[in-house]
Amino acid sequence: MAHEDCIFCKIIDGNIPSAKVYEDEKVYAFLDISQVTKGHTLVIPKEHTKNIYETSPEVAKELFSRVPVIANAIRDAYQPLGINVLNNNEPAAEQSVFHLHVHLIPRYGDGDGYT
Ligand code: 5GP
Ligand code: ZN
Repeated sequence: MAHEDCIFCKIIDGNIPSAKVYEDEKVYAFLDISQVTKGHTLVIPKEHTKNIYETSPEVAKELFSRVPVIANAIRDAYQPLGINVLNNNEPAAEQSVFHLHVHLIPRYGDGDGYT
């Protein structure tokens, strides 16, 4: 069920435009609007869930099982030297959008702007 006030549910539904990186029946991935490095991508479950505390093992399995595929697609597209996989939960841990998401942050070595 899409949450009415959730911007990521609106992105999944196509009501807010996004730059799609990957999609299947369970998962959607798109470029973060604020690129901390080139190719910074968010991976989200299509089923709305607030964060890791409220996520079923099944949805977590679906979401995280796609991460290797998407990380390799980003590597093919951008040729980074590495990639950070990051997930923030609750405001104290820097969560600002309350639909579970995994950040994939490609790394390009010294001076890539991400610390
Ligand atoms: P958080 O801080 O919750 O871990 O990450 C939320 C991320 O969502 C931020 O990096 C922010 O730039 C991104 N974001 C917020 N609104 C939008 C949007 O409308 N479109 C896209 N593509 N990214 C968004
Ligand atoms: Zn949502």
